Amino acid sequence: MARVTIFGAGYVGVPTGAHFARTHRVTIYDPDNNKVENINKVIDNDSDSLHIHEKGLIELLQENHENIVATTDISLALDRPEIIFIAVGTPPNEKGRANLKYVCAAAEQIAKNVKNDCVVLNKSTVPPGTAYLVKEIIDKHLVNDVKISVGSCPEFLAEGTAVEDLRTPDRIVYGCDDTEALDKVTEFFLYLHGRSTLSPMTTLSSEVTKYAANALLATKISFMNSLAILCDAVGANIREVQEGVGKDTRVGRKFLNASMGYGGSCFPKDTSAIAEYGQLFSSPLEIIESTILVNDKTIKYFSEKIIHAFGDDLSDKNFIIWGIGFKARTDDLRESKPVQVARELMDRGAHVHIYDTVKGALENFKVENPSYEGKYSVYHEQYEMVNGNIDGLIIGNEHEKFRNPDVEKLENMRGKYIFDGKNVLNNHLIKSLKRKGFNYRSVGKDTVA
Ligand code: NAD
Repeated sequence: MARVTIFGAGYVGVPTGAHFARTHRVTIYDPDNNKVENINKVIDNDSDSLHIHEKGLIELLQENHENIVATTDISLALDRPEIIFIAVGTPPNEKGRANLKYVCAAAEQIAKNVKNDCVVLNKSTVPPGTAYLVKEIIDKHLVNDVKISVGSCPEFLAEGTAVEDLRTPDRIVYGCDDTEALDKVTEFFLYLHGRSTLSPMTTLSSEVTKYAANALLATKISFMNSLAILCDAVGANIREVQEGVGKDTRVGRKFLNASMGYGGSCFPKDTSAIAEYGQLFSSPLEIIESTILVNDKTIKYFSEKIIHAFGDDLSDKNFIIWGIGFKARTDDLRESKPVQVARELMDRGAHVHIYDTVKGALENFKVENPSYEGKYSVYHEQYEMVNGNIDGLIIGNEHEKFRNPDVEKLENMRGKYIFDGKNVLNNHLIKSLKRKGFNYRSVGKDTVA
């Protein structure tokens, strides 16, 4: 059992801490007192609500309660850790690069408070060379005579399935140029995962791997989205094309779903960061640059389908949005495409009626959109807002509840329009909706034979 500390109690830090606590002693450090209290209450079984929504996370924290604690006290956080993971935010700055101020602040705090030798690993998504920067900061501010090795350990979990992703990862990538430290990290992970899952490498390779993985996944999506737009133009169906292409095992079926574009806290930020670094190092990443352009084009393409159906002025129009999180089962609205659509509609005068299966997503929408107050309503029941005032339904994410809607209820809408931003309705259903007089709009599968 190793003693580990995680800096950052967010979407990565908390699930990672809970997972490590299966076999290690974990302290989560975050200056945000509300988050820390919240986590400790859950650990102590005093509460069953967390500031982030992840399936199975509360149970995992409670199951491992003896091995995990959260704190705002830096000296408690740095009480003899063998490994420290920095999992703080790296939001984009105005140039699209990763803003490293939280990472640098964490490095300085570590330097000023650590009292024993240890390995520091960046779990945050950071540009190549950041581990060296962290090492520089630590060396500059180090108070005690201790040896600190710094490396990288990027995270690949997906929000909504974080607990399961951490339990059964495809791979664990980590890098450190100090081989003794690298061995220590290997030993740490071997208590949690089989050796074949581990991918130790150099620091820089590990840092690049994270961006490469996210950019490749985002590129698969944009690739299919540009073909989806072509499908609409020529009367083909992207769902059929996806099947035909994805059944080739060399290609694979995953991440080929066309949609209104990728969003969330990672793909947009990471693609723009790595594209920026490509420019900075005079190694432009033209394919990734195109991925970003196509993503921007796709959301516009989808929104324009709505505007085309109703005209520029949406003053007396009412729309339902099912699913406001950037994907199903998350309360995270960062770079959420359904949020973008909602704002576009409200800007044009429409009233938007929003439902999501995750209550926190609706709460976050209210908090993050104060200037739109009065222009939207939120609901906790999927069909509560379906009535004769509604002009169209927009499907915002891929939750199963949206795949097979109760058509009888939808027939009460005065406007017979369904805009499927995630292409989730199947061809059979689309045909039956069309027979009932509905107009179906999507990204690349408007034509159903
Ligand atoms: P988040 O915004 O949810 O959480 C970051 C936390 O760090 C916040 O609670 C904040 O209070 C805390 N923090 C800020 N400064 C700190 C400091 N000096 N010491 C300790 N804590 C501090 O962010 P997140 O979504 O968990 O992402 C963290 C990193 O992981 C980012 O670099 C992100 O790109 C990467 N990542 C995120 C995901 C994801 O799905 N969210 C997946 C893989 C990688």
